[in-house]
Amino acid sequence: MSNELIEQIDRLIQKRPLYKEALSVYRDLVIFLNEVEPEITYAVKDEGVHDIKVREGFPLFSREDLPLDVEAASLLFCRLLEHLSSRERKDKGALEKALRRVETDSQWITSVITAFLSNDETTIVNMAEEMALEPTVLKFLTHMALKPSLNTLKESVSQRIQKDSWNYGYCPLCGSSPDMAYLNEEGKRFFHCELCDSEWYYPRLKCPFCENSEPKELGYFASEEEEGFRVDFCKKCSRYIKTLDMRVIDSPEPLELQNLITLHLDILAHEQGFKSPHRW
Ligand SMILES: [Zn+2]
Ligand SMILES: [Zn+2]
Repeated sequence: MSNELIEQIDRLIQKRPLYKEALSVYRDLVIFLNEVEPEITYAVKDEGVHDIKVREGFPLFSREDLPLDVEAASLLFCRLLEHLSSRERKDKGALEKALRRVETDSQWITSVITAFLSNDETTIVNMAEEMALEPTVLKFLTHMALKPSLNTLKESVSQRIQKDSWNYGYCPLCGSSPDMAYLNEEGKRFFHCELCDSEWYYPRLKCPFCENSEPKELGYFASEEEEGFRVDFCKKCSRYIKTLDMRVIDSPEPLELQNLITLHLDILAHEQGFKSPHRW
């Protein structure tokens, strides 16, 4: 997390005024994220065992077992809630209710974080509804609160992640699904993790969600408005992934930002009958 990210957001706001509101909220929250210094500790596994696990397709951690600084994430979650509930938003009342809840029940945030990391959609939806909050907002806040920990962890294990030879449809660090893809200068495809921002190589003619590699069932449609943006889809499992072609796009911003400003591609994909690539 750095000032560089804030500069990139500012540039993107100029380039994509349509997404100004979403990007401004993100920018505000990133400033809080910069103030957190999480402590991450994890046991270094035996190198030999690690190599075997990588070859067998085991990610370094599972989402539930990620060694994150939950205390730092909980404090940050409170700060983000305080900030957002002080703004004029449609869900101001719900955010205030959630803030009152976390102030009186510290266990509440821990439960949200556990449900989020376990992909336990039912619990998240129930907890959000109890506050009259949109589940997507609750998930977004939880994810943002965990980001400093996830970044620190990612940096500390970067040597152990094999970005170019992983070859699986899930993240080598945390096992999560990809939320975006890009084609590099050589036309090779890489995925971006929905949770920890890791990137890894994956063959272009293969669906990461069902491993289908039948060319007739795989395809893509391109965005009409901007060159280099497209949606790759699989007719077998009806899922899709948004893809950026770096051979065409000039000075692209990080994928976590691109994901925010390509909601129109998600809408197009849904209109064509494809399902969200995420589990929820
Ligand atoms: Zn990941
Ligand atoms: Zn598929």
